[in-house]
Amino acid sequence: MIPYGRQNIDDEDIAAVVRVLKSDWLTTGPKIGEFETAVADYVGTSDAVAVNSGTAALHAMMAALQIGTNDEVIVPAMTFAATANCVVFQGATPIFADVDPATLLICPESVASLVTAKTRAIIAVDYAGQPCNYDRLRQIADLHNVPLLTDGCHSLGARYKHQSSGNLAAMTAFSFHPVKPITTGEGGMITTNDVALASEMRRFRNHGIVTDARRRQETGTWFYEMQSLGFNYRISDIQCALGIQQLKKLDTWIERRHQIAVQYDEAFGDDDGIEPLARLAESRHAWHLYVVRLKHQSRDSVFRRLRTAGIGVNVHYIPVHLHPFYRQHFQTGPGLCPNAESAYEQILSLPVYPGMTNEQVNFVTGQLKQSAISSGRAA
Ligand SMILES: *Cc1c(COP(=O)(O)O)cnc(C)c1O
Repeated sequence: MIPYGRQNIDDEDIAAVVRVLKSDWLTTGPKIGEFETAVADYVGTSDAVAVNSGTAALHAMMAALQIGTNDEVIVPAMTFAATANCVVFQGATPIFADVDPATLLICPESVASLVTAKTRAIIAVDYAGQPCNYDRLRQIADLHNVPLLTDGCHSLGARYKHQSSGNLAAMTAFSFHPVKPITTGEGGMITTNDVALASEMRRFRNHGIVTDARRRQETGTWFYEMQSLGFNYRISDIQCALGIQQLKKLDTWIERRHQIAVQYDEAFGDDDGIEPLARLAESRHAWHLYVVRLKHQSRDSVFRRLRTAGIGVNVHYIPVHLHPFYRQHFQTGPGLCPNAESAYEQILSLPVYPGMTNEQVNFVTGQLKQSAISSGRAA
């Protein structure tokens, strides 16, 4: 089976993890700060806060802004559920913005139309690894004095007009799940230039407690204070050692992902039924996903044929407002975000990961074109 995404682990990565396993600190030791500094330097922010998942990173951003009951946070409909769930964790209401049909990125005009007196934040998702229209989103956020945040779980390594994803919004959440741009097994990070928010999030990841175990040992004191309610969202040194190694290879991997995307583009250029998503000229795409829209064929039957052929195609995503939880608790449903809903019927994510070979890409393009033909035209 050719998966849609896959991690890349080499002997250096393994050796780095083994060194931590043999050291004194398995968690909350020196590797945390080292990984945070490496990511902050990479994206160009002053601060980075490492946590144990992308979801924890999103939650920490909400908590740092003290989002709570009666607050609204605007999120795109076309994303992974966690982008909206983090709003619900805080007792607030996610408001679903529609997406641009060409890129499936959050539509700034939809965002503008949804801002109310209750809006406390906007979360943009760099869907598939392509940065959103930040110039326009910042204008809207600034006009209403609402913080603009990024769910950058797809976009570490992407750039918008020479600024890196991670430094395009007040705070950005990253994920280090194995299919994401770099991995720590499970893990996440928030990048920001706001030192106060960063320290709120450091506290939040550790039960709301102000000193960590290492500092207590260094200063030889038993004292700690819980100043607010937090969680155990800590990441381990074992994981951060892996992350530090992975980050060194990110740019090479994005280059390889880009080559694969070009190969796909070329293969589908002469096929009016297979339409890759549009790209913005001002951006460097991180190519977390390569998504096509099937214009004439039934996506479901193409999906089944490709899976049978051993190709791990996928669908990103079921619009979040269509999930039963949101329908039940927030009275959402079909018709709320028509662009996301009609895209959902047609989209297919093709395999793309750094270790994918040209032969595998050719196999995917051949199989897709063939299944698209034999699946016939959708009614
Ligand atoms: C992966 C992902 C998340 C969640 O990250 P985890 O590390 O799995 O918790 C959130 N949002 C988006 C858009 C994602 O792709």
